[in-house]
Amino acid sequence: MLVDYHIHTNHSIDGEMTIDEVCRKAISLGIKEIAFTDHIDLDWPDPEFDFASIDIEQYILEIDQSKAKYKGQLRIKTGIEIGMQPHVLDETAKIIEDYPFDFVIGSVHIIQRMDPYQGKYYIGKTKEEFYRLYYEETLRLIKEFSYFDVLGHIGYIKRYSPLPYEKEDDLLHLDLVDEILRVLIKEDKGIEVNTSGFRHISNSSMPSIEIVRRYKELGGTVITLGSDSHKLSDFGFGLKDGLETIIQAGFNKITTYTKRKPYFHSISKKE
Ligand SMILES: [Zn+2]
Ligand SMILES: [Zn+2]
Repeated sequence: MLVDYHIHTNHSIDGEMTIDEVCRKAISLGIKEIAFTDHIDLDWPDPEFDFASIDIEQYILEIDQSKAKYKGQLRIKTGIEIGMQPHVLDETAKIIEDYPFDFVIGSVHIIQRMDPYQGKYYIGKTKEEFYRLYYEETLRLIKEFSYFDVLGHIGYIKRYSPLPYEKEDDLLHLDLVDEILRVLIKEDKGIEVNTSGFRHISNSSMPSIEIVRRYKELGGTVITLGSDSHKLSDFGFGLKDGLETIIQAGFNKITTYTKRKPYFHSISKKE
């Protein structure tokens, strides 16, 4: 079953597509279910990028309208991607509690007040160091914060790394990765297979298949699939490769969410 559980629309400041455009494209691609997951990242360090500016009520209203409009053709879920930083966790939890989300991705976009997208994060650090800091920060945050369903794009910093990508990068600090996965599993949380990595030089999912396989080995069962698209040309990109990664890692079920509750669906290569 093809789904896309990581989508940004023009309700996010970095999204370019409308909710309606996404629905129409999903139907044309034969995608059965989608979850919109626009950004709420409180206190982004660069005031030029206000990832907290979303009008949540309007966002939910438009998604509800699309649910009614495409009923019987496409299942549509109200999701959100929240950015975790140590000093905004309580405020973020309150937002999650206050709105009727179906699905919440918890992501680490900012590390020690630095945005990897802007490059400063990597300055003066070896690859070993910048991966370690990212994983340590992720571990610390998921131990403190539990208001999410799946951890977003594990290995995110490879997306903007100024150093050439090497396959071994995906295998750095597997001890820390194991710790992260164990915390998630203990709390019945999942990981996503984020296919934006197939648009990156690494040409592989985030996280890599090795980490997806490890999550399975440690007893993890909850796995979602998403393109992390911000524009229509990226929507749905890499989903089939992502599904193949999930199968190769040993899973025979994929997860969807309704009102924060996981549902498991057999993966059929035919759909
Ligand atoms: Zn993200
Ligand atoms: Zn995203």
